[in-house]
Amino acid sequence: MKAISKLIFAWWSAFSIFAATAAAPQKPNIVIILADDLGFGDTGCYGATKISTPNIDRLGQQGLLFTDAHATSATCTPSRYALLTGQYPWRKDGTGILPGNAALIIDPQHATLPSILKTAGYRTGIVGKWHLGLGGAGGPDWNGEIKPGPLEIGFDYAFIQPATSDRVPCVYIENHRVVGLDPKDPIQVSYGKPIGNEPTGKNHPELLKLGLSLGHAGTIIDGISRIGFMTGGHAARWKDEDKADVLTAKAIDFIGQNTNRPFFLEFAAHDPHVPRVPAPRFVGKSGCGVRGDVIVEFDWCVGQILSALEKLNLSSNTLVILSSDNGPVLDDGYDDRAVEDLNGHMPAGPLRGGKYFVYEGGTRVPFIVSWPGRVSPGVSDALVSLVDFSASFAALTGQKIPAGEAPDSVNVLPALLGETKTGREKLVEHDGFRTLAFRDGLWKYIEPDLRPRPGYARFGELYDLSLDLGETNNLNSAQPDRSKKLSGELKSEELPGRATGQKMNFE
Ligand code: CA
Repeated sequence: MKAISKLIFAWWSAFSIFAATAAAPQKPNIVIILADDLGFGDTGCYGATKISTPNIDRLGQQGLLFTDAHATSATCTPSRYALLTGQYPWRKDGTGILPGNAALIIDPQHATLPSILKTAGYRTGIVGKWHLGLGGAGGPDWNGEIKPGPLEIGFDYAFIQPATSDRVPCVYIENHRVVGLDPKDPIQVSYGKPIGNEPTGKNHPELLKLGLSLGHAGTIIDGISRIGFMTGGHAARWKDEDKADVLTAKAIDFIGQNTNRPFFLEFAAHDPHVPRVPAPRFVGKSGCGVRGDVIVEFDWCVGQILSALEKLNLSSNTLVILSSDNGPVLDDGYDDRAVEDLNGHMPAGPLRGGKYFVYEGGTRVPFIVSWPGRVSPGVSDALVSLVDFSASFAALTGQKIPAGEAPDSVNVLPALLGETKTGREKLVEHDGFRTLAFRDGLWKYIEPDLRPRPGYARFGELYDLSLDLGETNNLNSAQPDRSKKLSGELKSEELPGRATGQKMNFE
């Protein structure tokens, strides 16, 4: 009898310890490394053979590689909006690609991914690309305190570029101030009429070190003309060749300052978005032209961050996620020979489309979860989205999301940790403008585009991704009942609200 009691007690004790361990919130450091326009097929661990990405591959080998992970949208601003808010961006007007002088589009009253983690005791930081607007109505005061911005929505520290690398103003902002600004040379920015008397790409193409293919005809900064017009702030302007070094150093500084408390870092890299201007040591290193070279540069950034974590003995207690804000694009407005020098490389791998498209290549992105000792290496086909970070990390850190906040974020933590291969059942995909698609498992329905663009079908599209990952065989006519069902489910997803539509805004 005694022996049986002993056995049961041992079993109960073991179970209790297990239960206690499972229930207690865990607070690993969380580092999200978010590339800009990196495609599903752009890295070695996702099948690239022409571009060498040893650091990302190392992360892939030690981590869990997702094959069906998605950005919410196929362009930057809406995708990043969703990542931070847990809300599908197409529910809210004004979340399309923003000009560089737009006001902040995230309401500081709402819970965000960084505010949730801050409440959980994390020190929160963002380094790199922002592109979510700054300042109140009317936009930012570049020469004064620039707020609201990252610090007002939950970040303790921010070192950012305001928008994209191809939009003015081409300056860094640390917390509330432009870095290195000379008050005697104030910054003015315009996205309407030209401002100042500096040459533009339109009027002085002979001054450009990088030619144009579409748009980007505004002020020439550092030999490259941008979208929009800018004057002043000469001492504060970035050098494109230095950006990877500057941003990586700031990210590593942030990590080094927070070794004795949990921290959350979003490292929002600028590569491989245009203009593609690698540091000289990466020029010609990929064999696939300048777009390949800036992917090699991005891989170097990843390696530096992983090394910093290792040197500080933080690797085993740090959850690293590497992903991208949307799919790949080749010619994105500069004549940088991205198409001509491709050398057989396939940026989207086997997927159709890329940036700006609702096909899988637009939103299905590389996605690696690494947490040595906690997440077993492997491959997962669980359906997950960047919009799920809020609910998943709230679950990880024992936080409750206030009612009504992060409404589209699903807790997929068990999938992220590799405990299950089941993620979401359903997902809305978005081209970043106005077209939505609905995923139910491996079936995908794309709504008809009312103003069809090249490559889109007018009457809706239906694909069986289990047989047709490349979305080549439209089954909409052959299976009208299934299309109707999925279309109805998409409509019901839209019920909590859909914005009136994003206009095309490449400028
Ligand atoms: Ca992007």
